[in-house]
Amino acid sequence: MEPTTPHESPRKQVTRGQIVARGLSNRCPNCGERTLFKPGQWFELNKTCPTCELPIERDEGFFLGSMSLNYGVTIGLFLVPILLWYLAGGISGMVVSMMAGLGAILFPILFYRASRSWWLMNYYFVVPHHLPVNQRELAEDEDANT
Ligand SMILES: [Zn+2]
Repeated sequence: MEPTTPHESPRKQVTRGQIVARGLSNRCPNCGERTLFKPGQWFELNKTCPTCELPIERDEGFFLGSMSLNYGVTIGLFLVPILLWYLAGGISGMVVSMMAGLGAILFPILFYRASRSWWLMNYYFVVPHHLPVNQRELAEDEDANT
């Protein structure tokens, strides 16, 4: 049996289920606090989580995925359904054009915060061991990216 030192206590690990729950509710994937965005701001991400210091703002390319996600959700959940409604004869061409134009602008704005949070959730869902709370001491022959 390996000796343990008194200051080593097992840290609570964050599971993939918790990462998804936190992502869907726009919370920090590491500590679970509502700290992704600056207080009172709709669009501005914090550079790091004020509670646990998890880096939130990333390289410029990181959140390109969240933009794609946002477009995909806008098309899949808004534009395609109203197009189908139009094709089924439920609404006129003028109304569907106005709804599509307005929705194509408003839907991505309303979904902006969720798309950022979902993208961060997606990242940590794939590599949950990259969360600071899930990290442990590496053995000498281990690489942090494995
Ligand atoms: Zn945090």
